Amino acid sequence: MEIRLENLTKVFTDKSGNQTRAVDQLTITIPSGKLVGLLGPSGCGKSTTLFMIAGLHPVTEGKIFFGEDDVTRLAPEKRGIGLVFQNYALYPHMTIRQNIMFPLENLNIKRQEAEKLVVEMAELVGIRDQLDKKPSQLSGGQQQRVAIARALVKKPRVLLLDEPLSNLDARLRLQTREEIKRIQRETGITTIFVTHDQEEAMSISDQMVVLNFGMQQQMDEPQVMYNKPDNIFVAKFLGNPPINIIEGEIKKGKIVLSDGTVLADTKIKDGKYDLGIRPEDFKVDDQGFVVDTTHIDHTGRDTMIRFMIGDKPLRALVESESVEGKKTIKLMVKAHKVHVFDKETGLVLS
Ligand code: ATP
Repeated sequence: MEIRLENLTKVFTDKSGNQTRAVDQLTITIPSGKLVGLLGPSGCGKSTTLFMIAGLHPVTEGKIFFGEDDVTRLAPEKRGIGLVFQNYALYPHMTIRQNIMFPLENLNIKRQEAEKLVVEMAELVGIRDQLDKKPSQLSGGQQQRVAIARALVKKPRVLLLDEPLSNLDARLRLQTREEIKRIQRETGITTIFVTHDQEEAMSISDQMVVLNFGMQQQMDEPQVMYNKPDNIFVAKFLGNPPINIIEGEIKKGKIVLSDGTVLADTKIKDGKYDLGIRPEDFKVDDQGFVVDTTHIDHTGRDTMIRFMIGDKPLRALVESESVEGKKTIKLMVKAHKVHVFDKETGLVLS
């Protein structure tokens, strides 16, 4: 089921009349059967967007479509959504079986049929042998799988996950995110996954939407967005270690740094720009520029070189072999890897 948001806007007004534009004119199409990560810093409007799609927040302006259905004003329980939150919200006094079965009560489904659905869901999420336990007897990751099974038991049209891995430790987080990906693929259910963790979003999403101040910054496949960010915000938000941002100038078809270092050729017109270079887009090369190295960290296969250009510290991540035995290090930027951003708008020019 495709989800379409058209100019979706949410304005909160507090008691003194102050307004917050939590979501601002968001227009996106989430393709049927895909897992889309909704990503951005704290307060950028991710949860508010999800809550409007779920029907838990009335929208201020704009529309929400599930396929051809305009669901903008439809009650949450009529939308056909499954919701999973960060705190699994299982009923502690019920068994896992009862928890998963709970949404089916009052639905006029025969007991036998309901039991079958519960087992089917438990198998899907890999907790078939835990059905008679209580939530407290399960690990956090298992509890979150139960929450997913419970969200899916009514066969919703759309699955909405709000920071589902935040309460898990690092190891379980990795495991559970792989599980979520598998469950989503197996069921083919259109899924929106809210997270502030760029690495998590990159690893799990078919496509990502990056928000800032309630506004869409970019929607693309993770690798496309990483390699071709539309603006400086997206460039900085994705990547760890983060992209180097440095002031530069374009003079007669050359990208030049403040100390005169020429980085690359370009067709962009002369002027001052912000330049972005990812650490891994440098390489050691005898034709390169000598760097004023401040620190070298060997971390096995890769080496992190910290160096200065003027008073600006930068990082280069290069293959360890390429620096072995070298007294002076010369770096070059790989072809087409300098991102040039407009200083006023932050939009990318190349
Ligand atoms: P986080 O990652 O911290 O959960 P988020 O991206 O999910 O952040 P939202 O919770 O959607 O962000 O909040 C977006 C903006 O709207 C924030 O400025 C927040 O303070 C504001 N906001 C959210 N809910 C309400 C509310 N019920 N009343 C007033 N303002 C709200």
